[in-house]
Amino acid sequence: MIPTHSRYVIIGAGVHGLSTAWHLARELRARGTGGGEDILVLDKRGPGAGASGIACGTVRNNYYQPAMRELMAHSVSVWESDPEAFSYHPVGFLQIAPAAMAEDVAKIFSEQQAIGYPSVLVEGERDCNRYLLGLFDDWQAPGITTVLHEQKGGYANNIRAVRGLAGKAEAEGVRIAAGVRVTGLTLAGGAVTAVETDQGVIGCDQLVVAAGPWVRDLWAWLELPETVTVAGPGGAGGVERPMWTYWALQEGTLAIEPGEFTDSSGGFPPVTHVDSDTPLYDDVSGDLITDQLWGIYYKPDFSFNGLQGGAAPNLVAKPAGAIAIDPYGPESPEYTVADDFVRMWTSGLAHCHKRFQGKRQLYRHDPSGGIGAFTPDSFPVFDVFRQNAYVIADSNHGFKMIGVGALVAKELLGEQQAILEPFRFGRYRTGELHPVSHSPFPWS
Ligand SMILES: Cc1cc2nc3c(=O)[nH]c(=O)nc-3n(C[C@H](O)[C@H](O)[C@H](O)COP(=O)(O)OP(=O)(O)OC[C@H]3O[C@@H](n4cnc5c(N)ncnc54)[C@H](O)[C@@H]3O)c2cc1C
Repeated sequence: MIPTHSRYVIIGAGVHGLSTAWHLARELRARGTGGGEDILVLDKRGPGAGASGIACGTVRNNYYQPAMRELMAHSVSVWESDPEAFSYHPVGFLQIAPAAMAEDVAKIFSEQQAIGYPSVLVEGERDCNRYLLGLFDDWQAPGITTVLHEQKGGYANNIRAVRGLAGKAEAEGVRIAAGVRVTGLTLAGGAVTAVETDQGVIGCDQLVVAAGPWVRDLWAWLELPETVTVAGPGGAGGVERPMWTYWALQEGTLAIEPGEFTDSSGGFPPVTHVDSDTPLYDDVSGDLITDQLWGIYYKPDFSFNGLQGGAAPNLVAKPAGAIAIDPYGPESPEYTVADDFVRMWTSGLAHCHKRFQGKRQLYRHDPSGGIGAFTPDSFPVFDVFRQNAYVIADSNHGFKMIGVGALVAKELLGEQQAILEPFRFGRYRTGELHPVSHSPFPWS
């Protein structure tokens, strides 16, 4: 039986809903104003049923936008607070880039130094080659002129991390109600007074929306606009953009033994992200795949006994309202990866490492990938709407952002967090947008 009222109702048991629940319970308890028993998390399936349960799980600071970097540095400290519970592997992160991105990456490095985030910058093709050969003795990609090696970050196992968060929330007394689908919201006097579900109506004082790719539906039930005017610098002009745009994330696994992807000393390699403008050729046929800027990332995934990674996502060329989010992820007939991804990703791996040449047949053809909801500028929106509905819309940046819930919990209790200020919805009106890099990925 679900309750008829809860002070706090959180929709979504992914990384953000669970992290918010856990931290909010602790904050309430510390203040002596309540605890986990005041918090109800609803999920139509269960913890990890959405994007958090299929994320590749890379955790990095590597962002061109200072506000994103500060937020990620905060989240890394939460990952580090309990690596075992979150199945967090602090192997570090490598950004490998061509000349076209050199200035961007050097800027990231200098700003990382300024906030005390440990990283190493290597510049110039010869030095980059030497550095990469020191890490991987089979490195062979030409045209690399910048390497940024972040010493923190790495990756976490998606489902284990979600379970770790759920366990921490439940230990604080939070109730996670799985199999309860929210079907609408009751608004009165400009605020949300109740959450309508397939199992009854739940009155609430405060709502938190952490619905991942399903944010589109909650947004509509909050009666918020389908399009938004995005102003230029200083608030000048304005371009009307859809509030939600969907991209299909392209990820897959090469079924190698874990021991086949170690660094030169036989240890765990960092998560590796390579961007390149050197033409990419098909590893099997030799045909040109692209002569434009391309990028791939990869890391060992010992739970699947393979190398897991991805490439730039594909834009879903349909209006948000016409997109079938369910069935989600690997269960989707429409948005799992196709052969063009397999060809590009495995060729990219072979372009970089001799050990992956001629290995395409090891690609695991299980369905993989999933869609994400992106905001008008592809950066998160963390803000309050309709007086008491806190919306966490991470624009698909978010598995790594495990710490957002800690900051949101404080804001729910009236303590505004400077680190979240650059992510308010009002930036579209004022034109205070985040800077955009030269990366081929919409999230960098
Ligand atoms: C293929 C893929 C790979 C990714 N890789 C990475 C990565 O390596 N690193 C990284 O940082 N990020 C990655 N991301 C992004 C990241 O996974 C998401 O940004 C993040 O997990 C979103 O978390 P969330 O808590 O907002 O949403 P979700 O994890 O999607 O959780 C939302 C939950 O809400 C529930 N829900 C939705 N609607 C309702 C409703 N009406 N009633 C009840 N419950 C509802 C769902 O069942 C779901 O469990 C990836 C995303 C994808 C798709």
